[in-house]
Amino acid sequence: VWNNCLKFIEDNISPQAYKTWFEPVLAVKLQDQSLSIQVPSKFFYEWLEEHYFNLLKVALTKEIGKGAKLLYIIKMENRAGSSQSFTEKIPSSHRGKVSSQDVNMKVTSKSPELKNPFVIPGIRNLKIDSQLNANYNFDNFLEGESNRLARSAGKAIANKPGGTSFNPLLVFGGSGLGKTHLAHAIGVDIKEKYPDKTVLYISAEKFTQQYIDSAIKRKNLNDFIHFYQLIDVLIVDDIQLLSGKMKTQEAFFHIFNHLHQNGKQVILTSDKAPVDMQEIEQRLLSRFKWGLSAELQVPDYYTRRKIIESKLYRDGVEMPEDIIDYVAKNIKSNIRELEGAIISLIAHSSFSKTEVDIELAQKIVSNFVRKTKKDVSIDQIQKTVSEYFNMDIETLQSKTRKRHIVQARQIAMYFAKKMTKSSLASIGKQIGSRDHATVLHACKTVDNLQSTDKEFKKYVEDLTSKLKN
Ligand code: ADP
Ligand code: MG
Repeated sequence: VWNNCLKFIEDNISPQAYKTWFEPVLAVKLQDQSLSIQVPSKFFYEWLEEHYFNLLKVALTKEIGKGAKLLYIIKMENRAGSSQSFTEKIPSSHRGKVSSQDVNMKVTSKSPELKNPFVIPGIRNLKIDSQLNANYNFDNFLEGESNRLARSAGKAIANKPGGTSFNPLLVFGGSGLGKTHLAHAIGVDIKEKYPDKTVLYISAEKFTQQYIDSAIKRKNLNDFIHFYQLIDVLIVDDIQLLSGKMKTQEAFFHIFNHLHQNGKQVILTSDKAPVDMQEIEQRLLSRFKWGLSAELQVPDYYTRRKIIESKLYRDGVEMPEDIIDYVAKNIKSNIRELEGAIISLIAHSSFSKTEVDIELAQKIVSNFVRKTKKDVSIDQIQKTVSEYFNMDIETLQSKTRKRHIVQARQIAMYFAKKMTKSSLASIGKQIGSRDHATVLHACKTVDNLQSTDKEFKKYVEDLTSKLKN
């Protein structure tokens, strides 16, 4: 088949071009209507797709039929020698473009019998695993006052990805309020309506990891950015995790701009409102504001009931009215906890075969409602620690090098780092104007002493329980 394709191609392009771009290509296998060919590099693949797309399409359709697909397998080239000889063949005007020989992005590699190489579906029919979870869809994302704006913006986007003014869509709100669910639902809906669109769901954490992996291998950075630029709908979950990661943000900035300029849809979630996102570059934050920021709020009683009832209905479980009411009234600020309590209730009722009574409901609910702990402040920590060691706060903060005072101070720093969100620098400043290195040293010392000194360990444990209450 490939030989016939080659004949056709040879007849239609210059001998020089044929020699350069088609002779190095190897046919690997033909399965169903998919022909796999091996190319020497990612650059090669791009070149073929860019310049010989139509020609290849005609040739393949002629030989294989209308459903013909082309898969590129990129040969890994790690040694300088092999890429060198390849560079020579490229017309000099394009030499600068040869930036990367090995692709390290996980574009579906569904070819177990071929080790090493990465497979990239060709003919602009990129198959990327969208990483979407079909269990998170619009049907089971119940509507309420608290999510109406975000939900309808999501629906509008699903109807016309990239074609609304909601680009990017930033969904923000507290933990357990449905950000991840909604993000998937939009992607799932788009995939249903536009199966050919390339959708990718990724957590900011994974994105960062991929970025770091690529950056370490230097050469792959372009591939990383390039890969993301091929996507039609990019969904990045928990974008607040990019805080402080300036290099990752920069890569994301490039990707974002490219996608946005090309009318591609970007959907982001965050547990903070844009104004509250710290250590996110201003230029990135200002991009977020180009579209729509929609908050997922705490659901009202009515919505909470609806969520409980739908869950019970789906599982075919009946629950007394007063139990439903009790759960809906007592778990208010986190749908994940609400669901956890219901699942637990369902489990109990199906095991014991008796009706769930209010007492059991109370017990279960109390397990799910997080005790509303107030945040501990650095001042409280200093106060508790100095009281515990019978000294006043001024002593704790003083410049003295007396061992027991130094230790108390270090313990205070350790708890400040552990129990508050303050930076090392700000902890140092508040506990006797030390610098961040001192705080870091203190944290390490306390960690070490705990494992070597029993008495010391007990201090830390005592203080932990004091501070937690
Ligand atoms: P977040 O990402 O904001 O922390 P999730 O999207 O993980 O929250 O939601 C937590 C749980 O609550 C999930 O199981 C999700 O299915 C459920 N949930 C959230 N919002 C809704 C809703 N409007 N309707 C039904 N279930 C919801
Ligand atoms: Mg989430």
